[in-house]
Amino acid sequence: MEALFNLPIPSWISLGLLASYFAYLALALSVLPGKVIPGVILSDGSRLHYRCNGLLSLLLFIGLLGIGIFTKLISPVVLADRGMELLSTTFAVSVVITLLLYASGRSSKEQGSSLKPHVTGNFIHDLWFGIQLNPQFMGVDLKFFFIRAGMMGWLLINLSVLAKSLEAGNANLSMILYQIFCALYVIDYFFYEEYMTSTWDIIAERLGFMLMFGDLVWIPFTFSIQGWWLLRNKVELSKTAAIANCIIFLVGYMVFRGANKQKHVFKKNPKALIWGRPPKVIGRRLLASGYWGISRHCNYLGDLLLALSFSLPCGFSSIIPYFYPIYLLILLIWRERRDEEKCTQKYKDVWAEYCKLVPSRILPYIY
Ligand code: NDP
Repeated sequence: MEALFNLPIPSWISLGLLASYFAYLALALSVLPGKVIPGVILSDGSRLHYRCNGLLSLLLFIGLLGIGIFTKLISPVVLADRGMELLSTTFAVSVVITLLLYASGRSSKEQGSSLKPHVTGNFIHDLWFGIQLNPQFMGVDLKFFFIRAGMMGWLLINLSVLAKSLEAGNANLSMILYQIFCALYVIDYFFYEEYMTSTWDIIAERLGFMLMFGDLVWIPFTFSIQGWWLLRNKVELSKTAAIANCIIFLVGYMVFRGANKQKHVFKKNPKALIWGRPPKVIGRRLLASGYWGISRHCNYLGDLLLALSFSLPCGFSSIIPYFYPIYLLILLIWRERRDEEKCTQKYKDVWAEYCKLVPSRILPYIY
């Protein structure tokens, strides 16, 4: 933890680590095999294609790191030792990339939906929200690339923190549970990476500082707070607490993955069975059975339970490890409201009918 607070300034070594990481990811994204998934149809009728080889890229990278560690070329604790230094370097890099995106976006003459520049003239606004929807660099879709970098970065930091904890001899049940839950979440994310291609961030948000900072700094460095905290704080979990924690994780996972999968399947085939039965459909466009018949945005409930399960291994002596579930609660409540507005406008009477049939929002049985 000292390293985390001692060196809050960027360094060339951290920059080298980051550059090597990006180079690997770009190469892996371009050359490793993977399902090529068509993105949503954009307003000009075009659509991008995404090579979903994230899981293979991740496993191969971990394998290569394992060889590097085994042959003593790489230290497994390098990320944990350079915590704050890496964070500040990554922050600086996200600022520089945002400026480059701004400059190249402004000078773009493209008129297609992906690359058409949207300039409001308000410098701060344009920097924050970005100018282009899907900027590319050497054939790599940058939005897809950076979210991948952030999610993998979270797991890599966690693994390094685990190595640090093993080195210090204080790895206990709390640390192991936290590590297993997060690793499963990240692996699952890449297993179902194609679902990402239809999320709000990918289809609607332009690439500016908000996403750059969110992907590169926020996800890997704040989602891993529990691990850093456990390095410094000893928590003795009882067997009952550990079992309860596992149950919360499993229920959260079931709801999160189940709900997102049901919606994804429904959008592809509105006749596909939901929980073994024909789906209840409203206005031929909205699913009102399965998880989506229990509450609107039931998928957010699953994510919140998962987030809670990542923090529970830290016990209740401090609020710091609960940063992630608290942040996610605020974010998802805001997102749910924003999405309700969007769906009310888009689906009109059909949405009103859905709301009547499924009155609870996020939390089942609470109106
Ligand atoms: P959703 O997956 O909930 O997508 C919302 C969209 O789904 C709506 O705009 C509408 O789109 C469609 N929809 C809503 N209700 C129905 C229904 N009953 N039947 C059919 N379609 C419906 O939102 P997000 O993209 O925000 O989230 C995806 C996942 O990512 C969630 O599980 C969320 O928890 C997670 N997430 C995690 C974050 C984190 O930091 N950990 C941050 C943000 C999200 P359409 O117009 O296409 O019909």
